[in-house]
Amino acid sequence: MSPRDSRDAWPEDVPPGTFDVIDGPVQGQPGCTAHMTFVCPNGKRCGVLLGPVFVPRPNPDALNVWGWNGSYDAPTLTPSVNCIAEKDGKPTGGCGWHGFITNGEFR
Ligand SMILES: [Zn+2]
Repeated sequence: MSPRDSRDAWPEDVPPGTFDVIDGPVQGQPGCTAHMTFVCPNGKRCGVLLGPVFVPRPNPDALNVWGWNGSYDAPTLTPSVNCIAEKDGKPTGGCGWHGFITNGEFR
């Protein structure tokens, strides 16, 4: 398991699995209480919104909120995370990784 890294900015060489959980709601995202940034297994810097339960995006401009176990050091998210790389034929900035984040571990 990679330790949480709560530095404000990560150097270039942080390994996949590096993550941080930051408290706080996000405007326009009901049910969101925090967000998580991470270097996903594809080596990209990705992020998801977190809340007590999964909330599907309320409109096309909003994001999903993942269900989160409330742990900052060993977060478990449900359902799986899918960094969609393409939507409607357009690149989204996502990396294409699809997997689970369980107890702070990416697989
Ligand atoms: Zn990703």
